[in-house]
Amino acid sequence: MTDVHTTLNTAADARVDVAIIGGGAAGLSAAVTLARSLRSVVVIDAGEPRNAPAEGVHNLLGREGIAPGDLIAQGRAEAEAYGARMLSGSVAHVRRDGDDIVLELEDGDELRARRILLATGLRDELPDVAGITDLWGTHVLHCPYCHGWEVRGQRIGVLGTTPMAMHQVLLFRQLSEHITLFTHTMPELTSDDWDTLAALNVEVVSGRVGELRSENGELRSAVVDDGHEFAIDALTVAPRMIANSDLYEQLGGELSENPMGVFIETDFAGKTPIEGVWAAGNVRDVGAVVAASAMQGLMAGGAINGELATEEARAAVAARAARTA
Ligand SMILES: Cc1cc2nc3c(=O)[nH]c(=O)nc-3n(C[C@H](O)[C@H](O)[C@H](O)COP(=O)(O)OP(=O)(O)OC[C@H]3O[C@@H](n4cnc5c(N)ncnc54)[C@H](O)[C@@H]3O)c2cc1C
Repeated sequence: MTDVHTTLNTAADARVDVAIIGGGAAGLSAAVTLARSLRSVVVIDAGEPRNAPAEGVHNLLGREGIAPGDLIAQGRAEAEAYGARMLSGSVAHVRRDGDDIVLELEDGDELRARRILLATGLRDELPDVAGITDLWGTHVLHCPYCHGWEVRGQRIGVLGTTPMAMHQVLLFRQLSEHITLFTHTMPELTSDDWDTLAALNVEVVSGRVGELRSENGELRSAVVDDGHEFAIDALTVAPRMIANSDLYEQLGGELSENPMGVFIETDFAGKTPIEGVWAAGNVRDVGAVVAASAMQGLMAGGAINGELATEEARAAVAARAARTA
């Protein structure tokens, strides 16, 4: 990635139309849209996209299976080709200053923007099971559409933490006949649930999973608290998804919550209730996959450009009126 950091504080860089915080699918897509509208755009990215542990991006038409890092590299190149500038690093603080929003980077440098787009993604809070973090994104999975096909036919465990575990059972049962539901901390199964599990030949293990055992990075088994060990090749979990929202909260933003997680609420295009602050991707929609995140970036980019164009037209009308008065 081109590092524009050394030129950030020149006069030309001191104030941009739009600062995009986060350079994943959402942020880069917005950058392309805005740069193609001749807006001055800087993307500041800490370089930790959520799907980094995965081997490939799936369900992405035209780029099926591309490595997450390759998709980002291509997105950066596309945005840069239209004039967007990329900056590696983290935004530590934001504050309002008149009509502008001032971004303070982790090394203390500052950047001023007319609008900001938060595309900072989310963090997945995994259940408290020994060994789970090391296998996240490779053998510990959350989404049948992202990586279900890759584990088709294998021995798949479903870690029950919410009533949604029954739904995960159905979706992964579509992919494999060898499903084990670990009831873990999920609510008690209903008689309908038991009927379904029996009809689909799903093994049910009552009790908490305390540990996942692996060998050379491959998941081997889940060990329940009574010591019994069950051989599995993959485990599906429902992480709690928490928006990376520190910057939004610094500006006085409040968060919303649903059963899946915590997020920034916006209108359809990504406008938040805080003036000048927009959001796209997982930070506003915890269920958004890559294509949906990119789509939200595009929509936010277009809507920001429209808002700026309207503001500029009003200023031009006022200036003309002043001249002719
Ligand atoms: C293991 C796994 C596999 C997945 N596989 C698929 C798949 O196959 N197909 C699919 O469609 N979806 C998949 N997803 C979902 C996918 O990861 C998300 O849809 C996508 O990453 C959301 O894009 P985003 O731009 O909103 O956030 P991200 O891609 O997470 O990008 C956010 C960026 O913002 C940066 N950032 C955060 N805070 C700051 C800050 N303060 N300053 C600067 N930068 C900051 C981060 O470092 C990161 O680079 C998967 C998810 C996981 C967890």
